[in-house]
Amino acid sequence: MNNSTKAIGIFGGTFDPIHFGHLRTALELYERLPLQEVRFLPCQQPVHKSATGADVNNRLAMLKLAIANQPGFTLDTRELERSSPSYMYETLTSIRNEVGNTPLCLICSMDAFINFTSWYRWEAIPELAHLVVATRANHAKPLSSLLDSFFASRTIHDPQSLLTQAAGYLLFIETTPLTISSTAIRQIIKNNLSPSYLLPEKVETYIEKQHLYK
Ligand code: ATP
Repeated sequence: MNNSTKAIGIFGGTFDPIHFGHLRTALELYERLPLQEVRFLPCQQPVHKSATGADVNNRLAMLKLAIANQPGFTLDTRELERSSPSYMYETLTSIRNEVGNTPLCLICSMDAFINFTSWYRWEAIPELAHLVVATRANHAKPLSSLLDSFFASRTIHDPQSLLTQAAGYLLFIETTPLTISSTAIRQIIKNNLSPSYLLPEKVETYIEKQHLYK
């Protein structure tokens, strides 16, 4: 398949720091879905996280180190270039304006999807992108009846269907469960313990050199 006829995956997050939970999920989706790229989209630091977190430049530097050698992994910094935090609806509108009719797949985990109806203009988001929700085997969480009925007719099971229209479908896809979180990594470092094997070595070295999360 010609790369340009494939979809673009959008993987938003704080990435404070990026870890193997993010990277493994992104890779499995890149390999199993018809994606030309997975774009990592770092967001501005949510206010409630800023006390212990790394600043924008450091988060970005770690993200670059982590994805540098992986074909298909790219970076989209538009949310960092704005002066205030942006809504996913606005970000997807901006990306849609650039990519024309190329299918877009907004990637998130089940934990994020469960709160989807609290997102700004959530009902309009499927007009801009498909939703791809990474789930764990045997961890099906009950969805609210609102989410359930909204997505009932939009749910697909064949990844190739993502290419038949630019937006609007919902796909659940099982990925390898890795219960790593940035919060836990920050805590480990704060406690003067080693975060080895939870995140790329280059990122770990960067954290040490910059004295982050202490
Ligand atoms: P924090 O602990 O600071 O809240 P986080 O580890 O959840 O951070 P985020 O940057 O907030 O990381 O997450 C970005 C996206 O990656 C979200 O959709 C989130 O649900 C998903 N994600 C985070 N950790 C994992 C993981 N271990 N496996 C799969 N997806 C993950």
